Amino acid sequence: MPGSQRKAIPQAVQSAVLVGNRHACCVCQQPRVQLHHIDGNPNNNDPANIAALCLTHHDMASMVIGLTKKLQPDQVRHYKATWEATCARDIWALSRERFTFHYCVYKNPPRIREALMSLSMRERRQAVARIRDALIDEQDPKDRDEIWGYNLAPATTEATHVALTSLFHGEDAPSYLPVKHPHPEDPYYPFGMSTQEAMTTFHHYDLWCQVACQVLAAARGALPLEDVYDCESEEETDGYAGRLVSFRLSIRGAGIKVPRMWKTHPTSSIRARAKRGDRVITVKMALRTMYLFSDTAAINLRSGRVSGLGIFSGATEGQSGGLELSVVPLLIGTGGWVTDPQHYPKDFAVSRSATTEEGRE
Ligand SMILES: [Zn+2]
Repeated sequence: MPGSQRKAIPQAVQSAVLVGNRHACCVCQQPRVQLHHIDGNPNNNDPANIAALCLTHHDMASMVIGLTKKLQPDQVRHYKATWEATCARDIWALSRERFTFHYCVYKNPPRIREALMSLSMRERRQAVARIRDALIDEQDPKDRDEIWGYNLAPATTEATHVALTSLFHGEDAPSYLPVKHPHPEDPYYPFGMSTQEAMTTFHHYDLWCQVACQVLAAARGALPLEDVYDCESEEETDGYAGRLVSFRLSIRGAGIKVPRMWKTHPTSSIRARAKRGDRVITVKMALRTMYLFSDTAAINLRSGRVSGLGIFSGATEGQSGGLELSVVPLLIGTGGWVTDPQHYPKDFAVSRSATTEEGRE
């Protein structure tokens, strides 16, 4: 279009389209995409008018051969709608697979509460309704772990119902729990598990954390961390800061202490390394000792495979040029929990484009 002033696509729109399409071409799902104005007007930057296309399909959608384009605008709109719906469904399914646990190795309730406070009542209520529907769909009694007298993974149980109801009414903490001896740093968290009552409260608190995280993911979406690996510029990576991410990583924890040492060693960190093509990506997470589940949980975090939910807080160039990502973990467990492999494609994010993980640094 000679002479016309072409406006750049705003960064927020670029990010929204790339995230919504998981950095893949909406026609063929290959990575390395360009953004395409479907109606041919370079000034129409409505996200509905922007498609993510690989080079080949971008050419087919742009070049006129004979009298028509090989890929018509209506066809592109159809591919875009179909692929974006698939992405949304898979991001939801994957996140539920990655942070639904029989018990949490680690949780970060202050950050969970902070994130909840950023939701409007309307978002919160819609999210609770969505979780209730999902739980009904997933109900499978034989998969339930009832060793504690109730299930620790969110399910259609009374304990989950109580947590959901409290969240529905706008509470940002499990104020319904009776805590006789609260932890000095958290009034809702029992100090130790010395009595049966304290143990029950402790587990209900964990369940509340899980349910609250489900609500957060239902309201905001939890992107697979692998999608951040796909960013091609620092600006794009920064666009993810503050967003919820789900992860599955082989980790190594340095100096992780057992929970009773929270006073002398309040924090520690874990690291993971992943490879995307020939790029090395390091993921760093800081933990609060007091919120480790148990001594065994602390030991498990020194080395092993974990999954969970966190908040992506930014990327920096690490040593030797690799990318270093920081994540504030909200929930960590060992191994996700899959109810129905048909709805929960295993390692979906990993299968879309080749990713390998390295367990050791
Ligand atoms: Zn393509």
